[in-house]
Amino acid sequence: MTNEAEQRILVVHLPGVDGLCTGCRAWWSRLTPYPCWQVDWATSRQARSLTAALLGGRT
Ligand SMILES: [Zn+2]
Repeated sequence: MTNEAEQRILVVHLPGVDGLCTGCRAWWSRLTPYPCWQVDWATSRQARSLTAALLGGRT
């Protein structure tokens, strides 16, 4: 099950055509190369929960 906060981050922080994060630019006027640290955080958390699900850790 995906955390809502992670989902929100992944929806907003998308790669732009110039390789920069569109979410960081739109929200903070920040030119951050994609993936930014927020996407890193969200995807690493997703990977962990996916691994837990595959191992049978059904919660
Ligand atoms: Zn971003």
